[in-house]
Amino acid sequence: GGTIGILGGGQLGRMLAVAAAQLGYRVHIYTPERDSVAAEVAAEATVAPFTDPLALHRFAAACDVLTFEFENIPTGQLAFLADRIAPNLRALETAQDRLKEKRFAERLGGRPAPFASVESVDDLARAIERVGTPGILKTARDGYDGKGQWRISSVRDAEAIRLPQGACVYEGLVRFEAEFSVILVRGADGTVAFWDSAENRHEGGILRQSVLPAGASVAAQVPAARTLAARIAAELGYVGVMTCEFFATADGPVFNEMAPRVHNSGHWTIEGAATSQFENHIRAVAGLPLGDTATLARRIAMDNLIGDIGHAPGLLADPAAHLHLYGKREAREGRKMGHVTRLWYTA
Ligand code: ATP
Ligand code: MG
Ligand code: MG
Repeated sequence: GGTIGILGGGQLGRMLAVAAAQLGYRVHIYTPERDSVAAEVAAEATVAPFTDPLALHRFAAACDVLTFEFENIPTGQLAFLADRIAPNLRALETAQDRLKEKRFAERLGGRPAPFASVESVDDLARAIERVGTPGILKTARDGYDGKGQWRISSVRDAEAIRLPQGACVYEGLVRFEAEFSVILVRGADGTVAFWDSAENRHEGGILRQSVLPAGASVAAQVPAARTLAARIAAELGYVGVMTCEFFATADGPVFNEMAPRVHNSGHWTIEGAATSQFENHIRAVAGLPLGDTATLARRIAMDNLIGDIGHAPGLLADPAAHLHLYGKREAREGRKMGHVTRLWYTA
């Protein structure tokens, strides 16, 4: 029992809230959004900016366990929660900054795409000289779903770019065979469990589809990728679900980024695994034993529903399809509105 507080009010918070409620917890959502889709399914909600110290203190005082579903939270405001929040603030700070994250993974034996930090037009020219083209310029902080990224195929492209505010990273475009993610859960006692790795397909920087089993090139690289992910989690003293995204290349796995939270590429675990990423995250942060992460079907496909979802009700005609709608009122282009998971149990 008790109250679980979740910082962030999007669909990940909503799915965490459902899992927590099932385990008998009360859920309290803290979100700056007035129409939060997580608050809608929670027992309680605080609607306030992440920068409101009084609201944050009140929220924290009302919760027994604290976690987050959104990594772009100003951590300075959370310092008073340092010994009560899981995953911890060091994990959050590392994952918030692409430069920190890449250097951290590199130090633990991971291999990111070649990269250079960029804070000025001169830096960008130097970065391109060192890393080469084609490449991608990314804001170091606050990006998601491919936002805050610019593809650069020539020096000329670079000259046309107006640098955004704040630090950026320029990285070489990786010629990958496939993309995949490693999702693990680490319990309070250091126990680690992995879900099977899905093969992920992105369009325009947004995840479109995750499929299991992954293809042969991914399967061959999962062990090395898991080793790195487990090392990252152990080094951070991580508790909860953690995701690392990788490119499968001819030279082995290339580390893309980490998310200190449950992940879109793990939505298939709701129906497709013995214990979902959401339930295991709640179990971990609440100090409970972890559930079995085994995959339950022979083949699984999770498709995101992005933008217009007029066709979604029709998906229910497929008895193998599990439809999840997030309850967002406005279907903006590129906005994740829901997902559908299909499972095939037999040959
Ligand atoms: P997320 O929503 O996963 O947090 P994000 O905005 O942080 O996304 P990235 O993961 O950096 O963005 O990039 C989104 C997608 O763009 C990647 O999954 C990949 O398809 C493509 N991409 C990003 N960086 C590279 C790269 N260096 N080489 C090749 N493709 C890349
Ligand atoms: Mg990201
Ligand atoms: Mg990503």
